[in-house]
Amino acid sequence: MVSDPRAALWPNYNPPRDLIFTHGKGSELFSEEGSVYLDFLSGIAVTSFGHSHPHLIAALNEQAGKLWHVSNLFRIPAAELLAQRLVQNSFADNIFFANSGAESVEAGLKAMRSYHAANGNPERNRIIGFENSFHGRTIATVAVAGNKSHMQNFVPLDQGFDHVQWGDIESLRASIGSATAGVILEPIQGEGGIRPASKEYLEAIRNICDEEGLLLMFDEVQCGVGRSGHLFAHQYYGVYPDVMALAKGLGGGFPIGACLTNNKVGKTMVVGTHGSTFGGNPLAAVVANAVMDLLLEDECLPGVIQKGEYLRNQLSSLQEKYPKLIDSVHGLGLMLGIKCEIPNTELANALKDRGLLVVGSGSNMVRLLPPLNIEHSHLERAVSIMDSALGEM
Ligand SMILES: *Cc1c(COP(=O)(O)O)cnc(C)c1O
Repeated sequence: MVSDPRAALWPNYNPPRDLIFTHGKGSELFSEEGSVYLDFLSGIAVTSFGHSHPHLIAALNEQAGKLWHVSNLFRIPAAELLAQRLVQNSFADNIFFANSGAESVEAGLKAMRSYHAANGNPERNRIIGFENSFHGRTIATVAVAGNKSHMQNFVPLDQGFDHVQWGDIESLRASIGSATAGVILEPIQGEGGIRPASKEYLEAIRNICDEEGLLLMFDEVQCGVGRSGHLFAHQYYGVYPDVMALAKGLGGGFPIGACLTNNKVGKTMVVGTHGSTFGGNPLAAVVANAVMDLLLEDECLPGVIQKGEYLRNQLSSLQEKYPKLIDSVHGLGLMLGIKCEIPNTELANALKDRGLLVVGSGSNMVRLLPPLNIEHSHLERAVSIMDSALGEM
């Protein structure tokens, strides 16, 4: 008797989906038993240009035959080029490359503390996070997000984090003290439920940070890299951070993360302060540059806005048609959430059974995160699957 091969893995992912994909093309995934699924979760906002994009395959294959890894003991031209392109298209002056979202956030937390230490204020080391946020699963990123269910069994967690209520500017003001170093938030909360900040709220936070000499960090691991219809979600708001974490969509499926800083912060991360063995290695940097090629094409971001508006309007119509099943529709660009009246898992399963893959999030939402370059006909097919699933519920 053959034992279940899944038993060799930690049982940390729930529920283990008994669905195996053999290949993907654009917005479609093909399963072992021959079914086709529309992929509206994109590996949780990772495969930003769908599966098997020819430009990304060509970049990966060419580099795979030349050089994979050398370490940051040597110059890596592809990483330098990627950094320059991110700098040219953002608030940032300099960048650190990591391999995941949590690592990019951690780099930013260190950089915020480093800035104050370098300016003679090492006691300014407390960082404020927001209720309902998500910043990753390492000790420090769990601690700064402050989600109790992610923290239990892992105490004592790193010291130096405070938590305030999302959307409540007075709660933020009240929690600032002489030891506060900075503030971290997602301009559009992802895992906690698709919750875009309001422009006024972000502006007020930026103003408070300026008044109090605090650094502002945006975690755009999920909402960045074109998802919102803007290269970075904060550009939609016109409110700029001092530090920003990216990952997920940046490599289109190849692991890479980045921590972007303005120069006053970045210049304090001198030799010996931080590092990563794999961060920005030739393979990852070449693939991320190929993703940047696609993102910076003239039609890409306007396309995301237009597709997002279409999908959002269709979802609003479904909400009007099925008010007992759908409470409301949220989000920006192609980062959309359906707040359900029924358990979100029930809707997600009904959609999966009809060939549409989505992912749940906090606040009883179903998240829609299709590829940024999705074809219109696939958006239409997804809407019709949702309509028929809801119609039968
Ligand atoms: C996914 C996510 C992270 C963590 O990224 P990992 O690559 O899983 O470490 C951090 N912040 C946000 C906003 C995320 O959505």
